[in-house]
Amino acid sequence: MADAKGATGHSSSMKGGSSPKLDTYVQLLEKMSLSSTAKTLNSDDLQQARHAASRIFQHIAALERSSKEHLCRNSSFIKALLTSLEANKDFTVSKLIVDAFAELIGRTNTGTRCANLVEEDTTKAFFQLLVRESKNDIPDEFVLQVHHVLSKLALKDRKFGVKGRRNLALPVTLSFLRSHTHSAAAKSLQPVLNVLKSYANNATNASELGEKGAVAHLFKVVSNVNKKNMLMTKVALETLVLILKSKSNSRKAVECGGVPMVLQMYREWHKIDTKNRQVALRKALLHILKHVTNTKVGRQAVIDGDGVALLYTTCEDIMDVRELDSFVFISSIILRKCFPRQKLPANATKAALLFKLPESDFHVPQSLSKDAALLNGITVNMEGREYEDSSLDNDDDRSSNDEAESDKPGSGLSGGDRTDDAVHKRSLEDLRMYQQFFPEVLDIEVGEEFLPDMEHKNEIESDEQTSRRGVCDSNFGCQHYPEGSGRTSWPDATSRPDITSWPVSDTAPATSLKGKPQNGTVLNGGCRARELLDAGASAVNMKTGQPVFSLDIPVGTPSSRSKGKNSFPERKIKLKRREKSTKKVESLPDLHTLQIEVVNESEVDAQFSADEWVSPEDFYAVARKTNSVGKFNKIAYPDLHGSKLLHRREKLYDRKFGIQRAKIFEDLDRMVNSDSLLNKTVYDFEESFKLSEELTSEKWSSANRDVERLGKPAEPYDHLHFNSHFECGNLRKAIQVKAMQYDLILCPDVNTNHHHQWFYFEVSNMVADKPYQFNIINNEKVNSQFNSGMQPVMYSVQSAVNGEPSWSRVGTDVCYFRNNLSRSLQVTGGAKGKLYYTTTFTVTFRHSYDVCYIAYHYPYTYSTLQCQLLQWQRNVDGSPIYFKNQVLCQSLGGNDVNVLTITDYPSSKSKEAIEQFRNKPYIFLTGRVHPGESNASWIMKGTIEHLLSNSEEAIALRQTYIFKIVPMLNPDGVINGNHRCSLVAEDLNRRWLVSCPKLHPTIYHTKGMLLFMKQMQRTPLVYCDYHGHSRKKNVFLYGCSASQSWMTDDVDNPSVLADKTEDMSYKMLPKILAHNAQAFSMSSCSFSVEKAKEATGRVVVWRQIGVLRSYTMESTFCGCDQGQYSGSQINLTDLQVMGSKFVDALLKLKSRNYKASYLDEPELKMSAEDTTLVFQDDNSADYDDGYLEDNLSDGISEDEDDDELQENVIE
Ligand SMILES: [Zn+2]
Repeated sequence: MADAKGATGHSSSMKGGSSPKLDTYVQLLEKMSLSSTAKTLNSDDLQQARHAASRIFQHIAALERSSKEHLCRNSSFIKALLTSLEANKDFTVSKLIVDAFAELIGRTNTGTRCANLVEEDTTKAFFQLLVRESKNDIPDEFVLQVHHVLSKLALKDRKFGVKGRRNLALPVTLSFLRSHTHSAAAKSLQPVLNVLKSYANNATNASELGEKGAVAHLFKVVSNVNKKNMLMTKVALETLVLILKSKSNSRKAVECGGVPMVLQMYREWHKIDTKNRQVALRKALLHILKHVTNTKVGRQAVIDGDGVALLYTTCEDIMDVRELDSFVFISSIILRKCFPRQKLPANATKAALLFKLPESDFHVPQSLSKDAALLNGITVNMEGREYEDSSLDNDDDRSSNDEAESDKPGSGLSGGDRTDDAVHKRSLEDLRMYQQFFPEVLDIEVGEEFLPDMEHKNEIESDEQTSRRGVCDSNFGCQHYPEGSGRTSWPDATSRPDITSWPVSDTAPATSLKGKPQNGTVLNGGCRARELLDAGASAVNMKTGQPVFSLDIPVGTPSSRSKGKNSFPERKIKLKRREKSTKKVESLPDLHTLQIEVVNESEVDAQFSADEWVSPEDFYAVARKTNSVGKFNKIAYPDLHGSKLLHRREKLYDRKFGIQRAKIFEDLDRMVNSDSLLNKTVYDFEESFKLSEELTSEKWSSANRDVERLGKPAEPYDHLHFNSHFECGNLRKAIQVKAMQYDLILCPDVNTNHHHQWFYFEVSNMVADKPYQFNIINNEKVNSQFNSGMQPVMYSVQSAVNGEPSWSRVGTDVCYFRNNLSRSLQVTGGAKGKLYYTTTFTVTFRHSYDVCYIAYHYPYTYSTLQCQLLQWQRNVDGSPIYFKNQVLCQSLGGNDVNVLTITDYPSSKSKEAIEQFRNKPYIFLTGRVHPGESNASWIMKGTIEHLLSNSEEAIALRQTYIFKIVPMLNPDGVINGNHRCSLVAEDLNRRWLVSCPKLHPTIYHTKGMLLFMKQMQRTPLVYCDYHGHSRKKNVFLYGCSASQSWMTDDVDNPSVLADKTEDMSYKMLPKILAHNAQAFSMSSCSFSVEKAKEATGRVVVWRQIGVLRSYTMESTFCGCDQGQYSGSQINLTDLQVMGSKFVDALLKLKSRNYKASYLDEPELKMSAEDTTLVFQDDNSADYDDGYLEDNLSDGISEDEDDDELQENVIE
């Protein structure tokens, strides 16, 4: 002792937790250990070292827990101890130090102590010790003690597995396990198993352990300790779960007989564990089966071991046990893998509707080049491998393909498209054609009377005139100008616009463009279509050229109309704010003028109300001009009669707990007991197509006979009847699977074999008060808001006749989950192992033998838009409103694409007034590029009706801005019930970078207008494209921020200022909306510019046109989880109010110097000062905080639907 004291000399620098005595021993030990590296210790030194180590151990063992914690934080003390452990060569000393560490860590509440020790890299020292000592004959207790310390360190050491492998400790641990699996020794293996489990958390380790035989050893341990030691059994099983993630290890598990053992254990525990105390252990057994069934031998072993029956019956038993919820889910995954994959009971590889595309030298649609073979029914060489076994191997590994997909840039970026962009080659001459879409410039001149043409305003054109009129329309005030060259600038206000400088073709563009192939918008069959239309056909099948349906309802003839008593009754619509009250009903059956119960919320603008719906006669007249690919046999009742706005809020659907589990089990049940299914096809789109062709006009005395069908059972009586041969309808097949249950298959987008999400169909022949279950079985997205409170919408004709014409949310037991139907490689584009998803809901109808319409979301058809345009034109309140509706171009399907201009007239014809008028900033709005996003159209309706109203805001908006609106960018997609694409089978919102005038005319010409505006130095102040978002709640904007761009040095865009700082004013509009609009959520907004989005409208308008405030507005299909509407599903009123609030927000966007600067420097990028908002209310402080600096991007994917982020969620 005296020597020991003398050896240390001065007091230590160690602090905290250690006494001077302890310090002394540690320093002595360290010294002795280090000296032993140089020469062999003599026996005296050895004795000293052992003595010191022993005293250290005793000292620590005697400490209180708090003192141990203190000591662990003493870095130099721990370091000295570790140095000694590493350096000394004496086993006794090593053992004492290890015991000292074990005491230091303790048995319970070891967290902070371990964390401190991990910081000193105690882990590494222990691994090295283990490997070094394992070469000698060392006692088991020592090995177990080292593993005990390691297992504690593993809890806090994130690199534990890697350190173990790098220090070659894995074989040591494993070999100890192997030599101790016999039952007598096995009971002490707990620390070794704990360490193994920590190793196995690392995938490389897991496969290394598997190669070294860990699988068999672990199964042996499990069989020896099962029911004797729960904790060890659990840890051994959990280690197996980790190791078996590797498929080759899973095969080893099958080879060593693991599957029957696991099944047997699962069976026993299910029986014994009635109080559910071993949930983790039982769950581990299921997870082992889940991994094992990723291999073919594993699936066979489960089937051979009667695993299917076991899992099925155990699921039945535990259906109501809340804490075993996940068991049903995992079992369902295993069972699905054991059953042979099923195909969709429809020809899923072929499109339901085909449309012959015009030839284009410029661009071959991806879909066409890839799918051409399948569309023509030619077998591609993937056939045969389609349902190959290996497809199962990726079953739960969804990430690979999905990520690859979402990383892929938009199609517009692929190949050589970008550099070949004909858009860049569009010359000034090419762009001149767009000047005719700026009638406000041409119409209004200095010193001339510019009174609006009131006489013509409400005049109804004859069918001949309205059909296929083309862009130029005398009724719209667009004059015919002779061709000529001249100035290409915006007309100078000081002089009369030089008409000759505005070369406008003197014929409709469809014709005028003929000479220029790249501008051609004339499509195959277009002329034939026109002939037929002129001959009175209601609509024309673009494939066959046959009339689509005939109407024999009285449609006014041109002659009768010319006498002023036309078939469009003059119904002056008051766009003014009405009294918020209940308006009395007019007597039935005049269904379109029903009682209006205006929502009693100050928020709701009374201008959106039901009596403004067009008359059925108007609708017939307009709808007959709509061109579809497939044949229609009716106009849907809701189109004809509109929907009353609900005065009640519809809550988010509060699903009972366990519904998802029950539905998944039900799906399993169908696999197991497939014999019990009826499998009776009761509707087939392609078949009924043929039938409807045989229908004569006698049978269809009107385009809608729903009312006549009410209350009458129809043959065959024993099942529901379906129909989707109407605008936006897309049901391909209905199969009665049980008496009250139907499987529904949706049509893919035209010319494709996928994109199933939107649905719209008619159902009839039902009995009241009985639950009918509908399963839409070919959805493709990995999750849906149907799991988060969303319900489908339904419209009952009987209720409408009874005075309640309205869409409302319906359906109980609503749920969305993955099913067992394989998507073929042709459908997935080669991605293996993809399954379809089921949307299921149950509807209990109120009326027997009703005719009901069920849809994904509130439908808004192309014909509806056309009718409303007609109505808006008629009813615009005269002189204060400048409103023009022109046809920008025709779609591939031969449908007009409208462009609207809304503003006011100059205050006078003075030079100043005209100048002020012409210098008003432009707002450019587009919508419905994605046909399945009908919410976008309802918002657009709200925007347009608000702009045409007489509200103060509307007047101010018209005074301030000129609005250019293309309300429906994808009419063909909408008409034909597509979800995502146009007839080209491409997502048009990936066609803004490169578009073909023949194949993507709507995008080509909309972009043409924007390019023309840029050329004329009239770049819009704001661009916004209206969309719907299927996975999120609320309404929100996506904008463009240079600093959040995927490009590292993104400077070629409007948000980068001269000094390289970023103009943040693009964040103002969303900020205003967050205050302005109840449905709007700032926190959902994102401003990142992703590579995959380079070809979208938002990014192209930002980057190429130079619009700083270029947005996508996304609206939920579901509802809101913030603001005043929180907890409610979104309805028609909310959507329309959102549309009006969006434009109202623009009023607050006026910057102080905006007008002047805009005039002088169109390209001017406003500085932060300039963009200080001009507030019209008092709460400006609200806007004026650090909001702009908020980092709003959280990597949200934009524009919906590209990426499949979430896995099927279980409650
Ligand atoms: Zn969209």
